[in-house]
Amino acid sequence: MSVPTGGSVGLAELADLLSSRSLDDAELALLSDEAPETPVLPDVSVLKIGGQSLMDRGRSAVLPLVEEIVAAKAQHRLLIGTGGGTRARHAYALAAGLGLPTGVLSEIGSAVAGQNATMLGYLLAKHGVPIVEPHAFATLPLQLADSGAAIFPGMPPYGMWQRVPQEGVIPPYRTDAGCYLVAETYACQQIIFVKDEDGLYTANPKNDPSATFIPEITVDELLARELPDLVLERGMLELLRDARHVRSVQVVNGLVPGNLTRALAGEHVGTIISAGGDR
Ligand code: ADP
Ligand code: MG
Repeated sequence: MSVPTGGSVGLAELADLLSSRSLDDAELALLSDEAPETPVLPDVSVLKIGGQSLMDRGRSAVLPLVEEIVAAKAQHRLLIGTGGGTRARHAYALAAGLGLPTGVLSEIGSAVAGQNATMLGYLLAKHGVPIVEPHAFATLPLQLADSGAAIFPGMPPYGMWQRVPQEGVIPPYRTDAGCYLVAETYACQQIIFVKDEDGLYTANPKNDPSATFIPEITVDELLARELPDLVLERGMLELLRDARHVRSVQVVNGLVPGNLTRALAGEHVGTIISAGGDR
């Protein structure tokens, strides 16, 4: 059977290779890159609203941010992912103590990110912002067209199929990764991680007062520094390094009024972490 191609020699060759080689073939992988990209939701900005860093702080942190989101919605199309936070960490500790596998922890983490999505959803309900679960992502274009924004639980829906980490049992792809994957897969305009610190420091500023701020860095430079702790999940940084579309992310302090709005407008208000090099 002939496979339709985009007309280029490379794509015709790809069709041939696809019928004769394994899908892991290196030449085949290279040829699969031939066609120009088709960005899916290129005018959308993705926000990740931190679990522990924001939602867990309650009214004082969440309500001003909600106001900022409502105002931003007039100018930006937004996909808003939620983190898990303290409840997820508590449940991870219990499940790990019971000897349960990574996949179970992953499902538990999803449930907590879902709780935060539910709360944010009810706060934004009167502004017409719906919650969209990953299984209903096919409806995202409709929801965005209707209301200009949608909320989703940030955990990637691997569930029991979550990759087992090199060490321990904590799911390596959590809500930073989940929100990032949405931005990258839909080729969104940008992703902003809204947390409670000004961005990346040389160490966790909460327990190391000598930590200094890093305004801009590439993933390779960051990983080479072997920092004791990170503001974004390590697994997410590795996804960013291989990105095709969203090749930089910004981490901002959502406790500072106006930061989110400025970051959405393209201002550098936190730490910008980029993939580095070309792809
Ligand atoms: P979220 O609420 O989005 O899950 P996390 O709490 O997981 O966010 O991550 C943000 C936290 O990471 C910050 O509150 C900060 O205390 C901590 N952190 C750890 N290492 C660093 C670092 N090198 N630079 C900045 N923050 C860091
Ligand atoms: Mg986190």
